[in-house]
Parts: sequence; C-alpha cells; structure tokens
Amino acid sequence: MQGLLAKPRGFCAGVERAIRVVELALEQYGSPVYVRKEIVHNSHVVARLRREGAVFIDELHEAPEGALTILSAHGSPPEVYAEAKRRGLRVIDATCPLVTKVHKEVALFVRRGYRILLIGHAGHDEVVGTMGQAPRHTTLIETLADVERLSIEPGEKAVILTQTTLSQDDTREIVDALRSRFQWLELPPKEDICYATQNRQNAVKEIVGDIDLLLVVGSANSSNSRRLTEVATSRGVASYLVDGPDDIDPAWLQSRSRIAVSSGASAPETIVQDVIHRLRSLGVDAFIEVDAPDENVVFSLPRLTQLTKGGVTAIE
Ligand code: SF4
Repeated sequence: MQGLLAKPRGFCAGVERAIRVVELALEQYGSPVYVRKEIVHNSHVVARLRREGAVFIDELHEAPEGALTILSAHGSPPEVYAEAKRRGLRVIDATCPLVTKVHKEVALFVRRGYRILLIGHAGHDEVVGTMGQAPRHTTLIETLADVERLSIEPGEKAVILTQTTLSQDDTREIVDALRSRFQWLELPPKEDICYATQNRQNAVKEIVGDIDLLLVVGSANSSNSRRLTEVATSRGVASYLVDGPDDIDPAWLQSRSRIAVSSGASAPETIVQDVIHRLRSLGVDAFIEVDAPDENVVFSLPRLTQLTKGGVTAIE
C-alpha cells in the first residue's frame, strides 16, 4: 500500500494565531485564563491548553468579574462583547480576521438596506457569531430545500454571504440555485470561504483521482475537516474523519492500494504524524508528500483590551 500526504493541510493562520494568544496569555498572566468556547475545534489542542491552565467555558457568566477572558477564533455575537463590558472582563479577542471580515460585510450591507442570506450550518459557533451581527436582517440557508422555501420580494436588496469553512462545491450549488430563483442577488466583493478551506479542499481534489481511501485528521466538530471527507466521498472515494490514530479501523485498509492523509485547519501536525505512524504499522509503505507551495499567511496578534462603558480601551 502506498501513502500520500496532502499539502497544504493542517493549521491555518487563524488557528495558529488563536492558539498563540492562549499560550501567550498563560505565559504572561498565569493560570487561570478563561476561554469562551473551544478556542479552535480540535480536542487535542483544547486538552493541551486545559492542562496548561486554560479554563474553557461556554458563556461569560462562568468567568469571575475582572477575569482575563479570550474569545474563540470562530467569532462571537455582539451580546458577548456587551456582557464582557458589563462584567469588567479583560478580553483578548482571538476571532480570525477572515471571520471578522464577514462580520464587517454583514454590518456594511445591512447599513445599505440589504437583507443577508447566510449560507452555513445552524448552530456552528461561527454561524452563531455571524448571524448575531444582524439577526433581524439575516436568513440562514443550509440546503437547496431552504432555497426552495425562500421568499424574497421582487427587487428586495439581498446579498449572499457564507460561513468561511464550507464546501466550495455545495456552496456553488446553493449560490447557483439562489441566483437562478432571484437573479438580482449580490455577492460580496471577495469570496467568504477562506483561503485555508479552499486550499485544503483543492489539495484533496488534486489527489483524489489517484487514491482509494482518504483519512482526514480532525475533530468531529471541525467544519472544514468534515468538508474534506465530503470532497472525497462525493467523488466516489471512501473517506473517514479521525481525531487521532486510535480511531483508525484496520478494516478500512483492506483491499486498498493507495491511501492519502490530509488534515483540517485546526488539527496539529503531531497528530497527523501519529496517524501516519499507525498507518505504517498497518502496512502502508513510506508516505510521499505532495509537492505544493507553502501558504505563508500570518495574522498579527490581537491586543489585550478591556471593554469599558466608553468602548474598547487597550490596556496593554
Ligand atoms: S479556517 Fe479560515 S476562517 Fe477559520 S480560522 Fe482558519 S483561516 Fe480563519
């Protein structure tokens, strides 16, 4: 059995930045540092940071008054910032700049009198944060059936925005369906599906014709990781999401000749290497990494801020 390693794979710039924020906060201020929601959707990352002193909470009321609190990479609705201000929390906002871009698009288009049609998955942290920017003006579209049910007045101004981590194929299908029913719908100047999601899906598309099994390293709640498995299965190639090496079922490898491994944007490379190690022990020969350029995307770190009655005041 031959092994192929997709490239690019693994950590994106937004995930690197969010994890670094928690690490730096722990280094500079010590434990406990509170983190609202999983900082990124990966069980190994969350477990390591928890061991190092991060306290993961679902909502801000679980953090004591004045606590140092980090907001996750997926973005948060405005009421979270309002509560942080009310409770005098010291806040570091680790929202990925590419999610913030979508939040700004919502605000801009709503100011201009548009209705927002947001393509995304209900309940995902990013979608909760983006819909929260303008809930009365935003309609969530998850499926083609939602497009069928949608009603828009002729000439009503509306724009199609998307979650950053969707399948390019599914999104294109939904956008086409929307625009075939409502030809006047607009799109943002630059696509919302982020560079990391696109690059990882394109990398899988490049190799999927040469393999008969794809394993994607990522946690079950990682949207972009799940989408990678769908890229393969929608092209008739078996694919499984594995959180780590122990998830691999040896039966998956029976009668396979070429196996590829990729990983979602929140999956650490150490876990990818553990998965490769396990696959080699199950009979996969040496892995060859696909030759592709490095992404070289870096986002600058956010500042520690305290939300005060007068607004956001930098205190570091
Ligand atoms: S997957 Fe994209 S949007 Fe999400 S954190 Fe990474 S770069 Fe940002």
